[in-house]
Amino acid sequence: MPSGSWGVTARTPQPCPSDTKALLYGGARTKSNRHPWRCDDGPVTAQQTALTDRSPADLAAFAEEARAAYDALAAQGLSLDLTRGKPAPEQLDLADGLMGLPTTTHDSAGTDVRNYGGLAGLADLRSIFAELLGVPTAQLVASGNSSLVLMREVLTDLWIKGGPTSERPWGREEKVRFLCPSPGYDRHFTLLEWFGIEMVAVPQTDEGPDVDAIERLVAEDPTVKGMWVVPTYANPTGTVVSQRVADRLGGMATAAPDFTILWDNAYALHHLTEDEVASADLLSAATAAGHAERVVMFASTSKISWAGAGVGFLAGSPTTVEWYLHHLGKGAIGPDKVNHLRHAQLFGDAQGVRDHMAKHRDLVAPKFAEVDRVLGERLGGLGVAEWTRPLGGYFVSVDVLPGTASRVIALAKDAGVALTPAGSAFPYGQDPDDTNIRLAPTFPSLPSVVEAMEAFCTCVRLAAAEKLAG
Ligand code: PMP
Repeated sequence: MPSGSWGVTARTPQPCPSDTKALLYGGARTKSNRHPWRCDDGPVTAQQTALTDRSPADLAAFAEEARAAYDALAAQGLSLDLTRGKPAPEQLDLADGLMGLPTTTHDSAGTDVRNYGGLAGLADLRSIFAELLGVPTAQLVASGNSSLVLMREVLTDLWIKGGPTSERPWGREEKVRFLCPSPGYDRHFTLLEWFGIEMVAVPQTDEGPDVDAIERLVAEDPTVKGMWVVPTYANPTGTVVSQRVADRLGGMATAAPDFTILWDNAYALHHLTEDEVASADLLSAATAAGHAERVVMFASTSKISWAGAGVGFLAGSPTTVEWYLHHLGKGAIGPDKVNHLRHAQLFGDAQGVRDHMAKHRDLVAPKFAEVDRVLGERLGGLGVAEWTRPLGGYFVSVDVLPGTASRVIALAKDAGVALTPAGSAFPYGQDPDDTNIRLAPTFPSLPSVVEAMEAFCTCVRLAAAEKLAG
């Protein structure tokens, strides 16, 4: 397999062949390959007649066969897991050089990394990631190992103190609402629920969250204080926000003066193909429109080096960074600069990080290729599922027949295959159509991914047959 190619089948991601297949989340189909495509196509040899086009007798036969296949599957006593987007051990091995680093006690500016100080993090590391994330070094904070912690801190600061442009702390508002592009990242939603922030689901389109709907909601309602966006290879849809959408998000008029976009760029560098898309530049768009404090950006090395010992990043306007550090300084005297320095020494420069990510791609892309292959072969043309073919990130998002996602997940569980709970990619854990299932293929070995996907498809076939055959 050539380095960096899509996967074991050397397949390059292609739009679905038929233009008559609508993208599930709307939006015009373009020739761009920046976006994941929702597909329900399989290899030509595996094309099957859609279940809805079959006679009652054919459908009954299909259902019988699907039941027998499921019974055989359940008898195998499998124990497989496609739930969480974690790096596989071989991916963690790529960063084992960290074990012998840093080789010095001081960074290039002469800072003794063993001591207190440097709240914003070590400049050597910040400058590498500033280049990669497209922000000035002075506006990037390097922190502990989790960006999710930074998100919780920012929400806490907003809640207790208010943001740089707030009239009062959010906790003193009568109501705070947040827009949540859905399906989205379950932990974003859990965090909001914990604060008692009301979540308003907005659909994803093929170029980011539905900005028409968002513009309307934020213009009218001052209780809409913010929104989540995962701009690059979103969890779970793989969507990449276009610059056009980012420009509108940065420039739109909002009824709340302190409307805040939490721009979680967790997968900025996690390309599955050699088409390494650049993240949209929201901060510049918002700054140019006079809303520089609207944006708080997050990223981390959780899936670059080690999820348990990486580095989280926060970025924003100079004012936002000062606001964040002011609050951080009440409870911290400095971050783990030793970890910052060993990361800086491991990568050397921004190109070092890119080269490192290409090695991740070589490990991860074959797993995604197998997910796509098995879905195509087992479900292609049946008209019972659509799935994304992402160009980066950690997930494949599958939509099964409405009303069958929880049944598929229950069937899989009984057959020993753990899937993310139904509805978890939606606010309050409620998928209105009970249709979406998030698959995370990075952690299991390649043979386990194939085995789990075969089992998954057996469950989808049975759940669809049950539904359609009554
Ligand atoms: N954001 C998104 C969108 C994620 O998918 C994840 C991990 N699943 C995180 C943040 C967690 O990031 P960290 O490890 O830096 O806390």
